Amino acid sequence: MSELKNLWAQVDRVGLYIHFPFCRRRCPYCDFPVVVSKDWRGYFKELNNELSQYSKNNYLVESVYFGGGTPSYSAEYLDSTFQFVEKNFVLDSSVEITIEVNPEDLKNQDLVFFLKKYKPRVSLGVQSLNPKHLKILGREHSPEDIMHALEVLNLIGISNINVDLIIGVGGRRNITKEISPIIEFVSHVSVYLLTLEHGTHFYESKRNPRISEKEYLDIVEYLLENNFIHYEISNFSKPGFESVHNRKYWEHNSVLGVGLGAVSFINLGHTGVRAFNFKGLKDYLNNSSKTALFEFINSDTLAREKLIFKVRTFKPVAVPNQIRNTLIKKYSPKVIEVTSLGIKLTSFGVLYSNEVINDLLYFKATLPNLDELEFDTTRSSLS
Ligand code: SF4
Repeated sequence: MSELKNLWAQVDRVGLYIHFPFCRRRCPYCDFPVVVSKDWRGYFKELNNELSQYSKNNYLVESVYFGGGTPSYSAEYLDSTFQFVEKNFVLDSSVEITIEVNPEDLKNQDLVFFLKKYKPRVSLGVQSLNPKHLKILGREHSPEDIMHALEVLNLIGISNINVDLIIGVGGRRNITKEISPIIEFVSHVSVYLLTLEHGTHFYESKRNPRISEKEYLDIVEYLLENNFIHYEISNFSKPGFESVHNRKYWEHNSVLGVGLGAVSFINLGHTGVRAFNFKGLKDYLNNSSKTALFEFINSDTLAREKLIFKVRTFKPVAVPNQIRNTLIKKYSPKVIEVTSLGIKLTSFGVLYSNEVINDLLYFKATLPNLDELEFDTTRSSLS
């Protein structure tokens, strides 16, 4: 682990992810490192110990993200943890602070205190405004709780609000009608397709997520009409409200992840290192180094990952003419768009993103500098 320590010492700026793993109960689709318990004290002591292992490195911290789990559930530790970060790290003057909040927790005074004091960006775990869907998803809040939470945030003066939504839950769903009461309050929307993760209750019960093309296209159309920008496959924001912290993952900047199951990335230029914290609570509490394992990401793997994120964030990929023509022949202009800088996915093309990414990775395997080549901007006869 001393090798890892030396690499961390070379980093000058980071995004900081802090994991608050506690939840009231485990939702049936969730495979995050979660602990269903109120026995919090020992964990937060170890979390501070872990943070202090990095505090001498003098990083400039550009984003702080409290994720979970449910950070708003163990809200009494938010203020002390953030104070510890403020005292031991150098925060950028425009640092973005985000906290994941469950709607039912806006009744918690510790949380309200934290929100009033720091005015962070809030990521609200809405998932759906349909009571039937909330029940299927095992969520404890009601549509009324969501409206109340947004009103409280509004009163406190927090305008940088993300809402998480899950699609593919099943049944007929008029998603635009469903989210129209909340849209005026929010500056960012993350839309996730319900997936069956190994080991979850939904996986064991063989529940089928139903991706409805209409559900996805309806929400995209609605958000674009309401001045949101589709800037990553699952993420939409009003101009100027893109997530600073999430961009760090997508652009392979260094992110220090602390807490149970947290993942870190060290950017070393053309290569990198990914480190994984212990996922089991006992292992996390009983080991002074919280890193369970780490892996070097060689330049080929990193280049492939970067290509995937270029596609996911709708950036143009500059491919040689022959490959461009093959792609244009295979996909309709609704799926990929030819721009002056390269080929890029469209919002509709998200439905085919896996195929497009697989094709590009296939071409990259034979042509490693695929997206660094000159892009000929003249239109092909096929376009
Ligand atoms: S509240 Fe979030 S983190 Fe906790 S179990 Fe449910 S989905 Fe997982």
